[in-house]
Amino acid sequence: MSAEERREALKEVLAQVKGCVRCSELAAARRNVVFGAGNADADLMFVGEAPGASEDEQGLPFVGQAGKLLEKLLVEIGLTRAEVFIANVLKCRPPGNRDPLPVEIENCHEYLYRQVELIQPRVICSLGNFSTKLLRGDPTGITRLHGQPEPLTLGARTVRLYPIFHPAAALYTPRMLETLREDFARLPALLALEELEQPPEIPDPAPEPAEPLQAAPVAEGSEVDQLGLF
Ligand code: URA
Repeated sequence: MSAEERREALKEVLAQVKGCVRCSELAAARRNVVFGAGNADADLMFVGEAPGASEDEQGLPFVGQAGKLLEKLLVEIGLTRAEVFIANVLKCRPPGNRDPLPVEIENCHEYLYRQVELIQPRVICSLGNFSTKLLRGDPTGITRLHGQPEPLTLGARTVRLYPIFHPAAALYTPRMLETLREDFARLPALLALEELEQPPEIPDPAPEPAEPLQAAPVAEGSEVDQLGLF
């Protein structure tokens, strides 16, 4: 698939997510779905936990305090937001910023896996415990794992997974911020490593999803803002 085809396919996933009502509580409470934003062909992808109030309001990931820190750390290693792709485990805000429920992660993880398959990053930085545990399929916590890259195959894509602390956790803990900065500093070298061997391509028979995904009734013009994002 060319980068352009992958970008078009990503737009289709965006339309699906916009109309998703798998988690009825989240769907009823959300102001916006927060699909993710950035470069649809990024080498580096960040995966956070779930949108907060600012993200829900703007429909964009990491636009609050934690996002500002993430952006600052990116600039320190010579990258901008526009060059990477930023997503979350959950695409909708849990009310009151409560932790995502296992059923919500189960409902939503397919969208994240599709994003990874279509964006084809070389490195995925999981931010904090939720994304690290989901992507590794293991309950080992971020304190043990941060700063240690490991190969990870998600569907059709093998990447280097690089777990790091969540920037929100580092906001008020100087020692954690120091560690986060040290872990960030290793990202350029990690991105420069040669790509890992990819799983063999399987012809896609496009199986029917178990339960039909609801295509969003996209209003004329409403997609323009989102498309500018990637
Ligand atoms: N925290 C997250 O995990 N994701 C966001 O988008 C914002 C804050």
